[in-house]
Amino acid sequence: MLRVAVVGSGPSGVYAAQALVQQREVPGVRVDVLDRLPAPYGLVRYGVAPDHEKIKSLTGSLRSVLEDDGIRFLGNVEVGGELLPTARLSELYHAVVYCVGAARDRMLGIPGEDLAGVHSATEFVSWYSGHPDAGSFDLGGVRSAVVVGAGNVAVDVTRILARGVPELEPTDMPQPALGVLAGSGLRSVAMVARRGPSQARFTTKELRELGTLPGVDARVDPAELALDPDFTDPAAAAALPAVARRNLEVLRGWAEPAAEAEAGSGAAPRSISLRFYLRPVELLGGPQGRVRGVRFERTAPDGRGGVTGTGAYEDLEAELVLRSVGYLGVPLAGLPFDASTGTVPHAAGRVVRAGRASVGEYVAGWIKRGPTGVIGTNRPCAKETVSSLLQDAGELARRDRPDDPLDALRAAGLHPVEWPGWLAIEAAEVDLGRSLGRRTVKIPDWPGLRTAAGLG
Ligand code: NAP
Repeated sequence: MLRVAVVGSGPSGVYAAQALVQQREVPGVRVDVLDRLPAPYGLVRYGVAPDHEKIKSLTGSLRSVLEDDGIRFLGNVEVGGELLPTARLSELYHAVVYCVGAARDRMLGIPGEDLAGVHSATEFVSWYSGHPDAGSFDLGGVRSAVVVGAGNVAVDVTRILARGVPELEPTDMPQPALGVLAGSGLRSVAMVARRGPSQARFTTKELRELGTLPGVDARVDPAELALDPDFTDPAAAAALPAVARRNLEVLRGWAEPAAEAEAGSGAAPRSISLRFYLRPVELLGGPQGRVRGVRFERTAPDGRGGVTGTGAYEDLEAELVLRSVGYLGVPLAGLPFDASTGTVPHAAGRVVRAGRASVGEYVAGWIKRGPTGVIGTNRPCAKETVSSLLQDAGELARRDRPDDPLDALRAAGLHPVEWPGWLAIEAAEVDLGRSLGRRTVKIPDWPGLRTAAGLG
């Protein structure tokens, strides 16, 4: 028997576990999927926006993988800490596949980032997703927000800020977050990109959705679109990737005179404006160390897909600023790490130590290839890694490992939450929702999760 530990139960971890138990080359593979949290599914639970129910429903297929006879979920197990260093994990399993994602957010590196009211999108997402390590948000006095960045996370946080309570109430958003968003007097959100509309990273479905929110005007300035050579020159536009062409079409629709007039009528209680060719240079402080706005420098296309500064500046008012400029991997003690890419160096998924591929240690997902791609991208990524592991199976199987590492995990002082414990959390979240007159509502704190899982 080959015992494999998969560290992380997000999509890449679950797809790696699935590839391990569904293959026929090496019989008798058993997989423990370990997670620091007592709840599985990683960013599908703690990153996919609560109003994106269709993507969330992917948990159904992830669940059926974790319920496979050859797979065991062990939550509440932190790898890389004092109780379970990575070296110890390698002594307990024939092989370890690290699928730990990219947990940190990138900074802007400009003055004022420490002002109150300036946060990463990751912090905001964690809060409204009920992550037990998330801080809290107070939107009192916030009328304008600026979101820096033009990826799908920026679109998510912009949409959640602009949405009304009737649309958020049926989601599993924790009650405290729902209460804060419900009480907010926010009127306008500006989502600001440093490059042009044809270079934005968001996908068209997500962009289009911003224009369909009840009670929200989505605006774009035609003059700003016209700064993009790909927007004005049909030949250049034709050479763009399909997603960029479709994005331009949507934005063109929003910039048409009729749409502009309607958006400018002030009829809707909230507005979203998409801004382009503005790069943040300073976060402006107001009274009591709170942010009051963002200073941007106007940029211009440099003809090579990048931009240059023009020396012209524009200030946007904001009592809340979310920087949404990408995630970054975090080093795990005992594993090599490339700080420039935020990933673990690897060769086809095998961890590379001192220039050599290490048999028995593997990576998949964002910690392997960086924080890019949609959920489905993790499937082929995990398959490549598992195929490397299976090639090493002969050598791995000769290693002497305990029959069941669970005893050793408990002896180390860990209290793993097994599948029934997770099902108990799920049931408690249904009960919580019922008691609040809502559907399932997430338990957003450690004591609540531990109690629900039966850990006392
Ligand atoms: P992303 O797609 O890499 O977008 C990052 C954005 O930040 C880009 O617009 C980038 O601009 C900008 N940026 C970077 N550094 C900046 C700086 N110093 N100043 C100003 N802007 C800066 O990252 P993400 O939005 O975090 O998304 C991560 C991954 O998750 C993506 O693959 C995304 O598609 C995926 N995701 C998907 C969904 C969905 O499918 N619904 C939802 C959420 C996330 P430049 O382009 O100019 O560098």
